[in-house]
Amino acid sequence: MTVYLVGAGPGDPGLLTRRGAALLAAADVVVYDRLVDRALLSLARQGAELVDVGKSPDAGPGRQADINALLVAHGRGGGTVVRLKGGDPFVFGRGGEEAEALATAGVPWEVVPGVTSAVAVPAAAGIPVTHRGLSTSVTVVTGHVGDPASVDWDAFGRAGGTLVVLMGMATRAEIAERLLAAGRPPGTPVVVVEWGTTPEERTVRTSLAELAAADLGSPAVIVIGPVAGLDLGGRAPGPLTGTTVVVTRARHQAADLADALVVAGARVIEVPVIEIAPPAGDGAALAQAAARVAEHQWVAFTSANAVTRFLPLLRDARSLAGIGVAAVGAATAAALAERGVAADLVAEPATAAGLVAAFPPGPGRVLFPRAAEGRDTLPVGLRAKGWQVDEVDAYRTVPAPPPPPEVAAVLAGAHVVTFGSPSAVRAYLDLALPVPPVVACIGPVTAAAARKGGLEVAVEAAVPSAAGLVAALGENRPS
Ligand code: SAH
Repeated sequence: MTVYLVGAGPGDPGLLTRRGAALLAAADVVVYDRLVDRALLSLARQGAELVDVGKSPDAGPGRQADINALLVAHGRGGGTVVRLKGGDPFVFGRGGEEAEALATAGVPWEVVPGVTSAVAVPAAAGIPVTHRGLSTSVTVVTGHVGDPASVDWDAFGRAGGTLVVLMGMATRAEIAERLLAAGRPPGTPVVVVEWGTTPEERTVRTSLAELAAADLGSPAVIVIGPVAGLDLGGRAPGPLTGTTVVVTRARHQAADLADALVVAGARVIEVPVIEIAPPAGDGAALAQAAARVAEHQWVAFTSANAVTRFLPLLRDARSLAGIGVAAVGAATAAALAERGVAADLVAEPATAAGLVAAFPPGPGRVLFPRAAEGRDTLPVGLRAKGWQVDEVDAYRTVPAPPPPPEVAAVLAGAHVVTFGSPSAVRAYLDLALPVPPVVACIGPVTAAAARKGGLEVAVEAAVPSAAGLVAALGENRPS
């Protein structure tokens, strides 16, 4: 099947394109490079084969031939193959050679453009590669001077405009010398950005005469020309800038927390340790309960999962007419609202105990579509208030398979791990994954489970929601 040459962007996983992310999630095989952030691999689906072809900067032609052959072999294998490359695949990425090899072999392929470091790394550091009145052209060159004939440094020295040098750190002294000899003024502004758009980003502002002394290493982008004298700010720091945060929620429920963390400036690694599965018996009991909902005065929901499993089983939009609907918190109420049901009762604080306290006294019947292995706080509390509670399993929370070793390895360097439920805590500990220094929990019940598992809980959300967790982390800045 098809081999997709996907540009991973310059470093920040958020700068992968949407098409790239969709293909990554669908891929059977992911072949990735040295410069690709390992956190991106957590977007691959469970069981995808991950192949590291970590090219060092001086990978010889033989090495590239091996990669080409590997892509052809996987492409012929029949699955969806993603070749994940730093920046844009066709900017000094040798993606062109890979495309030619695939075409020659008759393997279908497609290039998915990426955000190239040549433009994005300067931009993120506050330097526009063109600027009205300063530079009307930009030239992207390789600093590899191994083949001196390939780059006419004298011509670049004479031409004005912006020069962006990739792979130029080892040869920066020679590059500066050639440009100076060709007539570029020694005071020409130069900016060097190492590991741009990543938490390790470092920037040196200097001049052409001083470029050789710039004390940075690879990978770095060197920008030479008047625009390098500009400093247009770059990224606004958020409360979690520089912080790597692990999200352990089930994949389909991770987005709101992951998005809120990214907006706050964090780098996010998604490692779903639990999955939501249908109840035992494939939901026959739940369907039966839905058919008999009219026998109840109330239906109580303690999670969005229960809402999404139960509501579609109602035969008629009017099935809930005259029945009170209770939700444990804003997220559960929002899941109801999305399906056209306005909750009559939303518990504050958003815990089962809070819902019990807010509930009117019985008698009567309450239907409680619940998590199979959830806690009994709600039914026990409501019975004590005089209600008959009919419990039915709406879903099960099951441990997810372990993440691939590549992703587990990234966890060791993360600053924070977040837990949204006691089941996520238990699953994480069962997988024996590295625990980052800061453990953050969405609420008191989850925090208690973490402490029981031997973890020290540093952050607990005041409001048990994704936004509440991010706010609590921002106040206790972990790095
Ligand atoms: N295809 C890539 C470039 C591959 S060549 C792209 O479009 O970005 C590798 C070179 O890119 C590195 O030597 C360095 O010069 C540059 N580079 C890539 N990522 C970078 C980053 N995050 N920060 C600084 N330079 C980077």
